[in-house]
Amino acid sequence: MQTIKVHSRQREEMIEITSQVIDLLPRTGEGICFLFVQHTTCGVTVNESADPDVKHDILLFLRKKVPQVFEGFRHFENNSDAHIKASLIGPYAVIPFKDGKLLLGRWQGIFLCEFDGPRERSIILKIIT
Ligand code: ZN
Repeated sequence: MQTIKVHSRQREEMIEITSQVIDLLPRTGEGICFLFVQHTTCGVTVNESADPDVKHDILLFLRKKVPQVFEGFRHFENNSDAHIKASLIGPYAVIPFKDGKLLLGRWQGIFLCEFDGPRERSIILKIIT
């Protein structure tokens, strides 16, 4: 088991971690890479890494659909929106690899999705061969 550390700088942002994951892959052999965040207000996803406007649009859409202030929210930390967005994105990703390369599509990248930053986040990485 290995860990990737990420420092978010904004309350909401998508931080690409593809290169950090590749650095931890074995050079030969094939298997799957399992990523998991032990956090309740961030998530992990695989999506477009070529056009940064996609990250912008995902965050904009989630912000519009799940506002930070919403009548009836009770959670004392006032970050219920971040908890909801984290559950929508999910806490894990599973990606196949072969000979040191992730078997991602041409436009795909792996992202930590921060919804209650800035914070230091840890992503657990388990290589299964
Ligand atoms: Zn909370």
